[in-house]
This record gives sequence, structure tokens and C-alpha cells, in this order.
Amino acid sequence: TAPSRRPWTLRATRLPPPATAAARAASAFSPAAAPHPFAWLDGAARRRADAGLTRRTVPRAVDDDLLDLAGNDYLGLLRHPDVVGAAADAARAWGAGAGGSRLVTGDTDLHQELERELAAFYGTESALVFSSGYTANLAMVTALGAADDDGAPLLVCDRYNHASLIDATRLAKAAGARVALFDHAEADRAAEALAAARGRALVLSDTVFSVDGDLTDAAALALVARRHGAALLLDDAHGLGVVGPGGRGALTAAGLRGADDVAVSVTLSKSLGAQGGAVLGSRRVIRHLVETARTFVFDTGLAPAAAGGALAALRVLRGEPERADAVRDRARRLSEGLRERGLDASRPDAAVVSVRAPSPEAALEWRAACLAKGVRVGCFRPPSVPDGRSRLRLTARATLGAADVDRVLSVVGSTRPR
Ligand code: PMP
Repeated sequence: TAPSRRPWTLRATRLPPPATAAARAASAFSPAAAPHPFAWLDGAARRRADAGLTRRTVPRAVDDDLLDLAGNDYLGLLRHPDVVGAAADAARAWGAGAGGSRLVTGDTDLHQELERELAAFYGTESALVFSSGYTANLAMVTALGAADDDGAPLLVCDRYNHASLIDATRLAKAAGARVALFDHAEADRAAEALAAARGRALVLSDTVFSVDGDLTDAAALALVARRHGAALLLDDAHGLGVVGPGGRGALTAAGLRGADDVAVSVTLSKSLGAQGGAVLGSRRVIRHLVETARTFVFDTGLAPAAAGGALAALRVLRGEPERADAVRDRARRLSEGLRERGLDASRPDAAVVSVRAPSPEAALEWRAACLAKGVRVGCFRPPSVPDGRSRLRLTARATLGAADVDRVLSVVGSTRPR
């Protein structure tokens, strides 16, 4: 079928013809007796509670003395004076928000400088920043996975891709793209799916997977993609600042620096301690995103404070590349120590270590027991785990000392569910 010329036009669902006045009068429907339109939410909440899947926001105190292994501040830059100072300076200069879309009034020198330095750091021609990593992924996949005059492409996706890549893929599919899934991190399975492609195809994968912290073989995926003339789209949210020499990310680590058939997304909210996201790639890729990506065109630009903070963080990282080695080292030590204590911990390639828990309820209780002993860890339960198995999630930080690592191991080990 020919691709729609207006894939984003909302088409109405075909509904049955309206009931006649006589039928309406004969039906017993009375608005006063009808349930409240949100009453169904109570039943849904109860079912989540019964399954141990309630979720709550938890405010953190400014000056609590918890040892934090739940956040994504991998390099210890969230409160770095240069980063916080640059964010504050940017807010004073430009205001608390961007004030509009980048295409209208939301663009500043800071955004452009950040884009130039991010592109140079990754070795791509160009970069484009977004208000979040989530919107960057929606942009990358929907814009590059769009149909053209020759038809709609096939998107070949790792089954364990992040929720934002999955949502992006669903949007692209609604606009005509076809989708194939391959077993997690199995490049050969991706090749089999590509063999079924007629016409354009793209391979989509996280680099570091956020649940177990494992790294996909991006070089193998690139090889497979190239053999079929397909593009490769990678989400390097957990790779920036952590993976590769000096934290230059998964492309550099995989020998794909400068590859013009690869595009990559990152977040500014983890290792760079700020907020926002970016897509990096060739000039023509970025131009296409600027002109067509809906989460670029219709979204307010990245807040200047976030751009300034991220830029300062990137400069700290360039000046102190050993931070990237340090965070990987701490993650490895955490994983080894947990396994020595008989726990089922993942073997991390980046900052994230996860530990299997017997049930969602046990994971919650384990987290609470750690918190009571001064260590904050994260917790992953369905639907955030692709295999349905709940876990504690520990994120290493470059600034963790040996004593901190020992304390985490002792607390997590001594509170394990029996
Ligand atoms: N991709 C991955 C792999 C992530 O883990 C996240 C954040 N959880 C995102 C994208 C989204 O990034 P952001 O939080 O900046 O929207």
C-alpha cells in the first residue's frame, strides 16, 4: 500500500450510527445513575496493589545523608559547582525556560554550542538537542522511520529496547512502518529479520540496556545492518560519559566513530547531571529532524539552564576523562561483591547493576530495608522489566569511595529477602 501523504493526520474511528431518539428513550440510561467516568480507576489501582505494583513518588530531602545508588548521576556531576553555576548563569541570562520552540524563540547560543560540542565529542557531523531523551528518541525513530515515495521502512528492534524506543516504534508503525523484533542482543537474529525486508530498513537498539546494564554488540549490529543496506539507530542514554575511552560513548567503543549510516540518541539527564536529550548524526539526518520531527517542531526548546549545565558537565568530563573509568570500576566492584555474597547480580558493562529479587513485593521490602540503613537503591518491577522479573537496581557513581562500596555491599547483603 502507498504510504499516506499525511501520516500524522488523526483519522476518526468508524463508529456505529447513533441510536435513534426512540431507542435512546427506551434504554434505561440515566446520567445520574451512571458510574463516575473515572470510577474504573479504583479497580485498576486495586489490581496493581494486589500484584505488588503500586508506585509512589518519593521526595528526596536536600540534605539527607543517604548513600544514593538510585539516581543516574553516574559521574557525580549533578551538584558539581561548574555545572550548577553554569545552569544558574544561563537561567539568569535567558530566563527559567526556553520561552518557545527552537524554531520560534527558544534557540540560544548555548543550545548551538552544546550541539557543536556534543557532535565533536561523539565524532558526528551534527547534533540536535531536545527537551528530554524520550522526545529525542521519538524524533529519531519517527522522522528517520517515516515513509517516503518508495514506501514505508521495516524497523528491526531488539526486544528489550527502552520504553521510549518502543513508543517511538509504535508511532512509526501507526504512520506505516513495519516492525520486526529480534531476541535481545542477538545480531544474527536481527540479520534474519533484515533478510525479510523489501526496501528501506533500520535496526534499532539500546547500547547499554537500562535493566541489567549490559552492552549490546553495536559493531555486530552495524555489520549486519550494512550487509542489508540498512541504517542503525542506537540509544546511548547510559553510554554517554560511561562507555568507551573518556566516556565518548558506545559508537567510539564499537569503532563506529564517524559512521554516516548510524544515528544515536543520548540523554543529558544521567552522566551529564542536567536534563534533556540529543540526537547525533550526519548533517542530512539532523536537517531532516529539524524540519520534520514533531517533538522538535511542536515542543518547547530545551531550558537554557539545562543546556548550560549539560555543556559545563561535558567540559568537566573532557577535562577529567578518568571519571568514566571510575564509574565502570565501581559498578564492577559492586557486582563482584554482591555475587561473592551469593546474590544474583548482573555483570555490568556500564554503571547499572541489578540484583534479582524473588517477587515484586520482596523487591519493595528489600529497597525499604536498605533505605532504613541509609542506602537508597532503586527497584525495577513489571512493567519496567522485559522478562517480568523484579530486581533491585544499583547505579554506580564515579565518586563512590571504597568505604561507600563496602557499606552498600554490607547493607544490601544483610537485608536480602529470606
Ligand atoms: N533511553 C534510555 C535507555 C533510558 O534509560 C532513558 C531514561 N530512563 C531514556 C531513554 C529517556 O531519557 P530522558 O530521561 O532524558 O527522557
